[in-house]
Amino acid sequence: MSKLSLDRILQSQGFGTRKYCRSLIEDGDVVIDGVTQTNYRTTVETEGLVLHVFEEEWVYRAHLYLALNKPANFECSRKPSHHPGVLTLLPEQFTWREVQPVGRLDHDTTGMLLMSDDGPFIHAQSSPKRHVPKIYQATTQEPVTDELVALLLAGVQLHDEPAPLAALVCVKRGEHQLEIVLEQGKYHQVKRMLAAAGNHCSALHRSAIGSLTLESLGIAEGEWCYLTPEQIALLA
Ligand code: URA
Repeated sequence: MSKLSLDRILQSQGFGTRKYCRSLIEDGDVVIDGVTQTNYRTTVETEGLVLHVFEEEWVYRAHLYLALNKPANFECSRKPSHHPGVLTLLPEQFTWREVQPVGRLDHDTTGMLLMSDDGPFIHAQSSPKRHVPKIYQATTQEPVTDELVALLLAGVQLHDEPAPLAALVCVKRGEHQLEIVLEQGKYHQVKRMLAAAGNHCSALHRSAIGSLTLESLGIAEGEWCYLTPEQIALLA
């Protein structure tokens, strides 16, 4: 349980600077339990708090844990150079809260991207010591052969890696479709592994991380959702 003043609460939820948050409260734009709050010094219990700001409902969250169904042609970088950044797909408040992608997907890769403003969570999830399987659906330029599958399972040597990298699981899903499960998250790993195995990845989609599937989240391309503690536990 923790009580905070209203201006701090609004600031922590990404509504802007302390000064701006105070003005929102003084202007009568913040309502709690049907009561318009006009004194920014009022302290309120944050656990279970539901605010209405400009008549929109906001559940207080100490931290944000999100999944985005990333479309193609969005960059994961905070300073995108050629395409819009993934943050543009989220509410503006989340940018104020410094939400970041957990790891990265290439601009042309689609599918599940985790995002959070919890530094230790981001760090733990993206640590190379963490071997959480990531499941990808790759479309290949050349047909998928048994030899390609065997090579990816045995391990392929990438240019700047000290040892060959192997897929945990690799299954032919169609003439040009491959499901590939990796436990590392090296730069362009799927594309580079396919190239090293003599094929080319023409499209890539991440369908799951750990036991959490994008399908189970039911979010369409370009949509995002909050993750529940139960869903976060599936990322182990
Ligand atoms: N591997 C890639 O090559 N690209 C991605 O975006 C993710 C994994």
